[in-house]
Amino acid sequence: MTRSGTVPVVTVPDSDRIARVTTRLAEVRARVDDAARAAGRDPADVRLLLATKTMTADVVRAAVDAGATLLGENRVQELVAKAPELAGTGATFHVIGPLQSNKVNAALRWADCVQTVAALDLAERLDRRCATVDRHLDVMVQVNVSGEESKHGVAPDAALDLAVAVAALPRLRLVGFMTIGARSDDDAVVRAGFARLRQVRDDVLASGAPGTSAARVLSLGMSGDLEPAVGVGATIVRLGTAVFGERPTP
Ligand SMILES: *Cc1c(COP(=O)(O)O)cnc(C)c1O
Repeated sequence: MTRSGTVPVVTVPDSDRIARVTTRLAEVRARVDDAARAAGRDPADVRLLLATKTMTADVVRAAVDAGATLLGENRVQELVAKAPELAGTGATFHVIGPLQSNKVNAALRWADCVQTVAALDLAERLDRRCATVDRHLDVMVQVNVSGEESKHGVAPDAALDLAVAVAALPRLRLVGFMTIGARSDDDAVVRAGFARLRQVRDDVLASGAPGTSAARVLSLGMSGDLEPAVGVGATIVRLGTAVFGERPTP
């Protein structure tokens, strides 16, 4: 693969990431706690999910040893490679990247929650597979609040209908909503997108539709925009670089 001359090459040894992870985790936890208090919220209502993409199982294990309990993988391939190595630590994995239908069985083996349901056909496939293996699955509906084409997710105007349909599937438990914030330096734009997700959540709860009463989670905010996310009501923030350092450049 060719590299643009302007992109710095990042090759950080695992030992460096492992040596820093405890401090970094404490620092980002403090950032979240400060943001929660500034918004008049209880810091205990915001969970940290570590986005572990590109990190080795050794690095992830160090984060778990430092107290992390909730992990997220974007790619099923990485989930399948790392999750068995972390079995027995008590940490749980969520799928936080788009899930292809041919990866559903593998994802279900290792994930407790799929945060990225953006279409009913995927939800139906998950539901059928859960019936086959006799289990239930937590899911979130991913909403594309920014409208950016590169982003996965259902349009905000269609999110209520999708959520109601997903919640009606017998093997799925709709627990909330997920989004990736707008790529903008303007805090007001980022906040407006997050607030749109909160509105979707509140509309779904107010609908009273069967299966929607547990749909309270707001998974929003990453290392660069966790403060506005917590301010708007995030109950899960998804953190990568703030905990692990810069990801390696491909
Ligand atoms: C990588 C990733 C994150 C974390 O991003 P950072 O900016 O490194 O904190 C959060 N959510 C999703 C869906 C991701 O892919």
